[in-house]
Amino acid sequence: MSDLFYRMRSCRECRWAKGHMSDYLDEELPSSRRTRMERHVEVCPKCHRTLAVLRRMLGALHRLPPSAGGADARQIAASVRRRLGEPPPP
Ligand SMILES: [Zn+2]
Repeated sequence: MSDLFYRMRSCRECRWAKGHMSDYLDEELPSSRRTRMERHVEVCPKCHRTLAVLRRMLGALHRLPPSAGGADARQIAASVRRRLGEPPPP
């Protein structure tokens, strides 16, 4: 039972975390929310991984030269952000 309780609570935190990861990486979260994010990814391997992948991806997109990246890179980033804001599949 406590495992179920933990997973339910962590599921809610995961939803919150996923919805705020791109703001977190853009450093647009206020410090209280940054702390909440950092605490969650410390204890949640799933979100830890998601955040690491997203950080690497956004970093790679930002490193692309404008001629090679351009609109495509921005579209990919926008699509990733949109998907993060969507509820997880059942
Ligand atoms: Zn999580």
